[in-house]
Amino acid sequence: MPVDPTKLEIVNYPHAVLRQKAAAIAAVTPEVLAVAIRMCELMHLAPGVGLAAPQVGLSWRMFVANPTGDPEDDLVFINPVLSEPSRVTEDYEEGCLSLPDIRAEIRRPKAITITAIGFNGKPFSLTSEELPARIWQHETDHLDGVLILDRMSPGDRTALRRKIKALEEEI
Ligand code: ZN
Repeated sequence: MPVDPTKLEIVNYPHAVLRQKAAAIAAVTPEVLAVAIRMCELMHLAPGVGLAAPQVGLSWRMFVANPTGDPEDDLVFINPVLSEPSRVTEDYEEGCLSLPDIRAEIRRPKAITITAIGFNGKPFSLTSEELPARIWQHETDHLDGVLILDRMSPGDRTALRRKIKALEEEI
């Protein structure tokens, strides 16, 4: 079924698509690129630093990211694969556009490498030990149905239980 990018909106937890393992994108078609462009728009409007396709209701392995907010820094990652996580981990406060009002410290490897296909249809590889590394890991989690709810400490989950329950009851 063709996707109308103008109709895409951010979906919130506990939408079922956020828990699915997303499928690889078979070909970088104009439709895929139009969706990526719309996702960049939604990311800027939110505003946020990353947005994964499941967050707009599409179970596709793709996300967009922009650590600076400058539209020139928009990047799309199609079929991303993470590798070489550092042994050094770091706690950092994360939010999620599909979990309004919820923020928690999440521990992740500080540095990581990502390989993906970009806007031009070609593979590329990047390594970061700063904010991009954090975004790539958070967004790749979305493609596997993993949310910060699963990675936060039990203490944070308890502290946030009312907000989490409120989201669950909004459906
Ligand atoms: Zn998220």
